[in-house]
Amino acid sequence: MTTTSSSHDSSQPRVVVIGGGLAGLSAALEAADHGAAVTLFERRPRLGGATWSFERNGIWFDNGQHVYMRCCTAYQAFLARIGSADDVTLQRRLDVPVLAPHVRRAAIKRTIGPAPLHLAPSLLTYPHLSLRQRLAAVRAGLALRRLDPHDRDLDQATFGDWLQAHNQDTEAVESFWNLIVLPTVNVNAADVSLKLAARVFVTGLLTEATAADIGWARKPLTALHADAGARALQAAGGEIHSRLAATAVRSASQGLEVHLDGSLRSDVSGAEHDNAQVATADAVVVAVPHDAASDLLPPNTLANQHQLNDLGISPIVNVHLVYDRPVTNLDFFATVGSDAQFVFNRTESAGIDDGRQCLAVSLSAAESYIGMPSADLVTHFKAEIARLLPAAADAEVTESMVTRERSATFMGYPGTDPLRAPCESRLPGVYVAGAWTDTGWPATMEGAVRSGTTAGRLAARHASESASLGR
Ligand SMILES: Cc1cc2nc3c(=O)[nH]c(=O)nc-3n(C[C@H](O)[C@H](O)[C@H](O)COP(=O)(O)OP(=O)(O)OC[C@H]3O[C@@H](n4cnc5c(N)ncnc54)[C@H](O)[C@@H]3O)c2cc1C
Repeated sequence: MTTTSSSHDSSQPRVVVIGGGLAGLSAALEAADHGAAVTLFERRPRLGGATWSFERNGIWFDNGQHVYMRCCTAYQAFLARIGSADDVTLQRRLDVPVLAPHVRRAAIKRTIGPAPLHLAPSLLTYPHLSLRQRLAAVRAGLALRRLDPHDRDLDQATFGDWLQAHNQDTEAVESFWNLIVLPTVNVNAADVSLKLAARVFVTGLLTEATAADIGWARKPLTALHADAGARALQAAGGEIHSRLAATAVRSASQGLEVHLDGSLRSDVSGAEHDNAQVATADAVVVAVPHDAASDLLPPNTLANQHQLNDLGISPIVNVHLVYDRPVTNLDFFATVGSDAQFVFNRTESAGIDDGRQCLAVSLSAAESYIGMPSADLVTHFKAEIARLLPAAADAEVTESMVTRERSATFMGYPGTDPLRAPCESRLPGVYVAGAWTDTGWPATMEGAVRSGTTAGRLAARHASESASLGR
């Protein structure tokens, strides 16, 4: 076993971060900004975690459409910190066009004015609900506003049961409530934990009028997060080792040890060498997905550690269709009466400037699509888009791509709240971060960054105290 070499000054407080997704990058930057010597280990060849992109035939495809809302303040601060703030577009005012076959275009949008009145005009004219359903939805919205997203008892019930008790029928759930819950929590409105749904509606839509304005990337996700994040971290003195997986975190006489497996590293010489390595640290941030965290840590480092797999996984599938001509002038739209859920115009971020148009059909809670052959998905959604956008019926699809993320998020069912670990573990100096941890938010980029920032700050403080005590 070898010790990983580091160019850091050995007297500096040392923080190791495991995992190079948004939580790990945020933790690493925060710790470096608080004076720690940071080393980040990522098992894959690339950073960015669940947000990444690849190029085929000159077109950049994201692994899946990512959006954020104006209330995602930590994520926006992260973009600013890594120099990517100018590479996103944030709507001036919430406006989600809703398309349905053979029905006039509707929208969920806000007007000027305080919450929750800002949504009243679009809800009261929403054509996919009857007048009775609209009035019932307004009453349910007002009741929802009174829920406290911090109330852990809300995690005992489904949002579906709550909606039913508040006179929302199946049609209202499908045509209205699910348009908001499905893409934000990646679980159907009927099944999702009431606590997570309350967080989305109270924080996003019903308290602050501007909170739900929607933002998206104008660049491929890898350029937006991974490349810019790596540059920022290196500029702050951090070291990044990719293709190096952590296998265990242990306490040692001089702080903490992170055991590593470098067997993913390609050996160009073909020479045999010892792939096992160990890094020493004063504090460690474990920023890996929930199903990887429990194996890395000594038993009982986290409450409910042996149950982390019960958080489950929920898939997301994206079907990318490149048309030979523009078929819509919308940036994105939601759908009713179609399987297409949400459709995004990705032409700019795909790097297409030859008159073609790239649309991504984003399918959340995609259990029924994850195993379908790509050709079937492309045929099906090409037909769905033609039903929604008349111009697409005559256009040709010149390129297509299906991206599947089997474990895109945890499954936010009732009962999952107690499984989400707090940042501070029971092992001094070890902190956990990730979208799955106890952020109160659904599994989102905002949750990942919030948890990472907190973990990075606490780790830097702990490391600094250990270093000043002479370790
Ligand atoms: C297709 C898709 C669409 C999404 N859409 C949205 C959206 O619109 N809005 C939104 O806010 N969120 C969205 N999300 C969720 C969001 O991307 C994630 O919640 C967030 O990026 C998770 O970040 P993380 O750092 O917590 O975890 P991850 O991104 O999973 O990062 C964990 C990292 O740890 C690494 N790792 C694992 N084990 C080890 C080990 N032993 N040693 C070293 N490294 C290890 C992994 O390789 C990975 O890079 C979407 C996710 C997907 C997949």
